[in-house]
Amino acid sequence: MRMLLHVCCGPCSVFPLKHLREEYPGYEITGYFYNPNIHPYKEFVRRLDTLKTFAARIGLANLIIDDSYTLEEFLREALNTSGGRCRYCYDLRMRQTARYAKEHGFDCFSTTLLVSPYQQHELIIEAAQAAAKAENIQFCYIDFRPGWQEGVQISRELEMYRQPYCGCVLSERDRYYKPRKGSG
Ligand code: SF4
Repeated sequence: MRMLLHVCCGPCSVFPLKHLREEYPGYEITGYFYNPNIHPYKEFVRRLDTLKTFAARIGLANLIIDDSYTLEEFLREALNTSGGRCRYCYDLRMRQTARYAKEHGFDCFSTTLLVSPYQQHELIIEAAQAAAKAENIQFCYIDFRPGWQEGVQISRELEMYRQPYCGCVLSERDRYYKPRKGSG
């Protein structure tokens, strides 16, 4: 079984890759980095470099990197999609992953986004299922969340860069901007 595993960043890939190797030995895993939602660009590069270093360390030979950085399009669509920015963001990444998987003969796809308790798990599933249907390929759902803490611990032991916000510039604003009381 050839699985294309969408990888959102290095730290989030720690547990899913470990789990897949241990519990799905018959699967051939290929990582697929496609995340034009990471802003600003230097942050994008830092997360990608962290992933590359980790992949080399664990011997993940198959890692495909799509470094498309469609910033204007992402922000325009994220701000205007009726379902909200995260719905657009998940749809975009799952649709591209499903498309790539189909075009390159994979049997199924999944995503490391499913490890994080801070992501909108149900929305990710919806986006992946819709992408699977549109591209006529299987979405392999695995709830990686029980391994979240284990992944965090390992990533800390390896001194991996752990990002403090989700990805887009809006999430960075939400993380750091605290309006002063009484201002305006
Ligand atoms: S908060 Fe995260 S999931 Fe939502 S749009 Fe921004 S980067 Fe994407």
